[in-house]
Amino acid sequence: MKVVTTIADLRAELAAARSEGKTVGLVPTMGALHAGHASLVERSVAENDLTVVSIFLNPTQFNDQTDLEKYPRTLEADCALLEQVGAQLAFAPSVAEMYPKPDTRSFSYPPTDSVMEGAFRPGHFNGVCQIVSKLFAMVEPDRAYFGEKDFQQIAVIRRMVDDLGFGLTIVPCPVIREESGLARSSRNTLLTDAERATAANIYQALADSRALVGSHSVAEVHDYVVNRINAVPGLEVQYYSIVDGRTLADVATWQESDDIVGCITVYCGSQPIRLIDHIRYK
Ligand code: AMP
Repeated sequence: MKVVTTIADLRAELAAARSEGKTVGLVPTMGALHAGHASLVERSVAENDLTVVSIFLNPTQFNDQTDLEKYPRTLEADCALLEQVGAQLAFAPSVAEMYPKPDTRSFSYPPTDSVMEGAFRPGHFNGVCQIVSKLFAMVEPDRAYFGEKDFQQIAVIRRMVDDLGFGLTIVPCPVIREESGLARSSRNTLLTDAERATAANIYQALADSRALVGSHSVAEVHDYVVNRINAVPGLEVQYYSIVDGRTLADVATWQESDDIVGCITVYCGSQPIRLIDHIRYK
């Protein structure tokens, strides 16, 4: 696998591949790679001639400086993992390479980017759109792979792709979980073993709540999840929203949509670490 750090080198590698008629898959990441990222890369490798994985801890999507500072950085191990799963090219640019000047563009795709993570992390999706639009313009992939782990992010990026007319396919990939059910996340490495065990209650509550759908209202299922997680010492729900899976607007009844998803953010432990997850009801 080749590792490039400049846009010029990235373009040169891609031009060579394109001249041979190769298809290109892009997997954008912020590094600290784990089995969740690997599943996206494996899918891209299976579906494209050349897979580019970007590793870039994008400062513009962090509204909390401390979160950015404590984010794990493991470039060497990341490259070893990418090599193992068959990626052909890693793009690991510096902040100056990606943002030679401050990015003043603003993106607005309500309600997808204004609710949930958008409400609690102001500016987060604007930063996501800034970096993903740059990567799409630089790589011009045929397909781009995103994890449903960041369920809201996919809805926002789909709106951006429609808005800006990028000629590519967004490929959503299922959440990879630890054995306990906890969604794999780079931030999980910041949890102690005890906190990690506690955090497994999040998905267990979400999974169990699916059995209530036939007999309970949306509001009752909402309260069941929130109360069950908040009853666990060390966990505190920031929000739980039961929404239409495409628009991300709240639903009040199960009949309102044929695509209904519950999205949650929970604070875990004493630092605390912010964990997100979701469950599909319909
Ligand atoms: P990140 O490095 O956290 O920005 O994630 C890069 C990509 O990997 C995003 O599309 C994430 O949704 C995806 N991803 C992260 N964790 C998982 C997981 N547990 N399962 C599937 N995809 C994931």
